[in-house]
Amino acid sequence: MRQRRATQIGPSHRPCGVCGSVNVVAMESRAVRTGAARLNPLFDAAPRTHDLCRDCGAKHRTENGLRI
Ligand SMILES: [Zn+2]
Repeated sequence: MRQRRATQIGPSHRPCGVCGSVNVVAMESRAVRTGAARLNPLFDAAPRTHDLCRDCGAKHRTENGLRI
């Protein structure tokens, strides 16, 4: 099972698409190498980003700061 660790990278400039709240933060999550993944040369540790609404909990995937 893959684990991901999320860190806040700053406020988002876009309101939540679900509830319209502006209380949205940009998050970056990285896969954490555990167990057999440590030995896997193809392991993809590229960070992924998403906006997280702190009011309703909705996540919006982002790429280069843009929602996709
Ligand atoms: Zn929301």
